Amino acid sequence: TYVIALPCVDVTDKACMEECPLDCIYEGKRMLYIQPNECTDCGACEPVCPVEAIYFEDDMPEEWRHFTDVNAEFFTTL
Ligand code: SF4
Repeated sequence: TYVIALPCVDVTDKACMEECPLDCIYEGKRMLYIQPNECTDCGACEPVCPVEAIYFEDDMPEEWRHFTDVNAEFFTTL
């Protein structure tokens, strides 16, 4: 799955939301989150993020690896 990381916090540009064909990017209080059960790994959202906050989970920089859980956990608390 694709994952949104730290650079999105307090930015929430939403270009990715417009790009996602499945509308599986959701807005939280301070960042956007990708619903991992809905994302089909199409990759459309990644290049349009102006702050490069979106990564395929395996390509996530080490310091932001925990954002895979952060994204998933957002949907368990809804
Ligand atoms: Fe949506 Fe595709 Fe991005 Fe997944 S990779 S969140 S399906 S645009």
